[in-house]
Amino acid sequence: MSQSQQHKNLTLQIVIAILAAVLVAIALPWALNAAGMADWTSTVFTPISIGGEIFLRLLRMMVVPLVVTSVMTGVLGLGDIRKLGRPGMIAVGYYITTTFLAVIVGLVLVNVINPGSAIDEEALKKAREEAVVQEAEVANEQAEENGKPKSAGDIGKNLILMLCSDNLIESAAKGDLLPLIVFSIVFAGVLTTMGERVSGLTSFIRQANEALMELIMLIMRFAPIGIFCLVAAKFGTAIAEGEFLDTLRKIAAYFFTVVIGLAVHGLITLPAVLWLFTRRNPYRFMLQISDALLTAFSTASSSATLPVTIERTIDNAGVSRKSVDFVVPLGSTINMDGTALYEAVAAIFIAQVLGRDLTLAQQVVVAVTATLAAIGAAGIPEAGLVTMQIVLTSVGLPTSGISTIITIDWFLDRFRTTVNVLGDAMGAAVVDQYFDSSDPPAPVAPAPEVATVPEEDPVT
Ligand code: ASP
Repeated sequence: MSQSQQHKNLTLQIVIAILAAVLVAIALPWALNAAGMADWTSTVFTPISIGGEIFLRLLRMMVVPLVVTSVMTGVLGLGDIRKLGRPGMIAVGYYITTTFLAVIVGLVLVNVINPGSAIDEEALKKAREEAVVQEAEVANEQAEENGKPKSAGDIGKNLILMLCSDNLIESAAKGDLLPLIVFSIVFAGVLTTMGERVSGLTSFIRQANEALMELIMLIMRFAPIGIFCLVAAKFGTAIAEGEFLDTLRKIAAYFFTVVIGLAVHGLITLPAVLWLFTRRNPYRFMLQISDALLTAFSTASSSATLPVTIERTIDNAGVSRKSVDFVVPLGSTINMDGTALYEAVAAIFIAQVLGRDLTLAQQVVVAVTATLAAIGAAGIPEAGLVTMQIVLTSVGLPTSGISTIITIDWFLDRFRTTVNVLGDAMGAAVVDQYFDSSDPPAPVAPAPEVATVPEEDPVT
């Protein structure tokens, strides 16, 4: 069976796994309830959740070594660190522009749809009462509040500091990828200037990267089972607890505003950007990286999905390893279009619920802080919910507003993570255009079909 056929089969198996998981998540609590065994629900879902957790851990275990070796391999493939200048600028430009476009889509939709006006009376009363209580508390505890970042300047400062670590091992242990990426770029950059003296080390890094990619392919064979367990356990417990569907019904307008926004960004804006820069068929591209998109939906984590995104963007979508190694790891932590869109919509929705009209200037502040908050969010489940406090406080909204949306956040997280991952993969394809075509070929590019005169390795 050809490799592409194998990929197609795997994708189909993952889709079936997700559908089966949703079915089980709905049917099992219902059946247990009907049999008068509702207490058994958590007992039944616990072993399933262990299966999901194992798969998640296998993916997460790969992240730190993979980020380090793939970023280093990417820089080594350039031959000369200075060649990173232009693609690097394009990558950052792409991250910021697409994130900002996502925020604009979100802001337009939330103002037009006005989901805050559609909220159920009871929920409205509760949210407003909580806001009053919280504002009174805040007034009493100003000192505590002082430590929180409020202005865009403060957030910017924190973001810059996030790039550097005083202890790389600690960053790795905590899964803080940004300092690891910065270190890997600089370290590999230094290696490129040392020539033969470090040839052993450079081939070690490349080979380690190759081996890790093989390991990812192996782990992905278990993806259908792992994804089934992850989705069934999460949906099953949420449905059994009852609050999820109830809240979803109450704030359905908000839910759909975010989902429509994500659909516009993922199915129109990003494809348009990809097509404009590369003339590639964006929907075909999506199919080619569909395993990564499905994994993103199932894990709600860009970081955990990173190994799959890298592997599929190179092997299935045919984007150069140089570009992927550089753009995707960085993108997985700082390029979060879906998260930015959601943060903007959620903040305005909370304002609407609380009956606070935000001026145009305040909405601009929301747009900027949502972009920064998304850059600052880690690629882990529900990180966006945490950084949203920054957006809320920037326009004087009480963070208690988050309680209105918290019960369904894990579900929305899956949609926004999928868009985040899509943005990273498409970014790699866009930036690929800007790598100098006269560069030496990526060190692990497939060998040419017809053997020619043997050459020396052009990279070292
Ligand atoms: N879960 C998202 C991600 O990993 C971040 C978020 O929006 O919470 O990309």
